[in-house]
Amino acid sequence: MTIAEIDAETATLNKKLEELRKQKLEIIRQEPIKCTKCGETSALNDWTFIQDHWFTYPRGCNEGDYWNDSPVDLCHIVCPKCSNRKRIYDHPGKERILELTERSKFHVLTIFEKKKDEYEKRNYNPR
Ligand SMILES: [Zn+2]
Repeated sequence: MTIAEIDAETATLNKKLEELRKQKLEIIRQEPIKCTKCGETSALNDWTFIQDHWFTYPRGCNEGDYWNDSPVDLCHIVCPKCSNRKRIYDHPGKERILELTERSKFHVLTIFEKKKDEYEKRNYNPR
């Protein structure tokens, strides 16, 4: 093979990889997830993903004082039918949801089209 042939073959394979990636994302988004409150089933992509954040308090002179992304299992999803919110960790389909999000090689925020950020309440009172 010449360098030009290898480049052409690489371009073809990269295009194929991109197509497969898109197909996989579509399948993940269509995965049915059942709501524990209303009992209705909705495609994963119809749920809203809430990226929760937790706070690292200031320590010393220049440490801490910043927000962290909570891990996926500690974030919430909101049912599109009844608006019930559930922590993924407490959902009976937790393992499947984590398989589709955290372990799918897609970032969770790429998977969900509807998402928002929430921040834990801070009870911090500097003296
Ligand atoms: Zn529901």
